[in-house]
Amino acid sequence: MKIPMSSPDLNAADRQAVNDVILTPILSLGPRVVEFEKAFCEYTGARQAVAVSSGTAGLHLAVRAAGITSGDLVITTPFSFVASTNALLFENAVPVFVDVDPLTGNINPQLAASAARDLMTGGKAAEKWLPRKGRGSGKLKALVPVDVFGQPAEMEPIMELARRYDLKVIEDSCEAVGAVYQGKKAGTFGDFGIFAFYPNKQMTTGEGGLVITNDDQAAAMMRALRNQGRAPGDTWLSHTYLGYNYRLDEMSAALGLSQLIRLDEMLTKRDQIASWYAEELAGIQGIQAPVVVPTTTRMSWFVYVIRLDKSIDRTDLARRLEARGVPVRPYFLPIHLQPYMIERFGYVEGDFPVTEDLGQRGVALPFSGVMTREQVDYVCATLSEEISRS
Ligand SMILES: *Cc1c(COP(=O)(O)O)cnc(C)c1O
Repeated sequence: MKIPMSSPDLNAADRQAVNDVILTPILSLGPRVVEFEKAFCEYTGARQAVAVSSGTAGLHLAVRAAGITSGDLVITTPFSFVASTNALLFENAVPVFVDVDPLTGNINPQLAASAARDLMTGGKAAEKWLPRKGRGSGKLKALVPVDVFGQPAEMEPIMELARRYDLKVIEDSCEAVGAVYQGKKAGTFGDFGIFAFYPNKQMTTGEGGLVITNDDQAAAMMRALRNQGRAPGDTWLSHTYLGYNYRLDEMSAALGLSQLIRLDEMLTKRDQIASWYAEELAGIQGIQAPVVVPTTTRMSWFVYVIRLDKSIDRTDLARRLEARGVPVRPYFLPIHLQPYMIERFGYVEGDFPVTEDLGQRGVALPFSGVMTREQVDYVCATLSEEISRS
């Protein structure tokens, strides 16, 4: 048996929705994007939704709209997909990393609070939070918590911190569409919430992303920036701002709309797969299944990441699983240890021990809403056999 790492959950209605668009001449800047945004406002309760060409583009627009510029400090975590940090680097802001909670991989709110306090104090106190080089001279502007693997970050203490120090909050909810933290949807806590729709995410538009905000002015700015800096009233060749082509096309928006209608149903299917995994993995020695914490009142399973005991050689295990048709991925390789981050900021191994430990022991198993029980059985049986041989 050969198991795919992930698969989009597509049905006939999704295909029809895309087909309907390509029977018209309007492939961009049309009604589907507007409808998709409206549906997202309804789904999240946000005042504004701005659809874009990727989650990364959404993060970048949020950074621009938040007024984060060169040298500004932004507290975030190195246990994430690189885009949450890269969006800051695009504007030459300086990410100030704090380590994560060992259970969830999300930002540790106590560390974030200490970092914010010390950075506001400045001088010697701020030193220990800043990178060895490339630190800039700016002041603390914002927080970027990431909802890792579909579990919301601890947004209550994060928002309290933001209020205390007057910081912007950009919630990277790219892995957590539909997740709920203490009764409130992921992405709706801060000034901006960002979602992503690459084909391995819970819902897809092919490529695509979306930003939600309750700030009308920021939304207007993001609409201008995604469309080459054209402000309302600008003609095709007049550009009020330095902008980008971050537009979402009509085929993608139509697919997104069709997927969003089924999102809760698709999340329920993913719940089922996750609970099959939990059930079958419980009997296997040497691994730890993912933990859903009580503040997560609805998990939105993105990937299913287990942790291996330190004694297991992950690379070797992955190779043996792969050979038997079970692909797995190390999740995440820490951001601060990526080559360009080491070069720019001088990070070394040991700087963020929890992130590094999770990064060394985490393994994403094949996961999607269209997996069958038989496939989950095969993955778990194969994993069990190969671990006992480790
Ligand atoms: C998927 C993802 C993004 C955005 O990815 P794109 O490929 O640009 O859509 C951003 N942050 C995190 C944490 C992600 O997992």
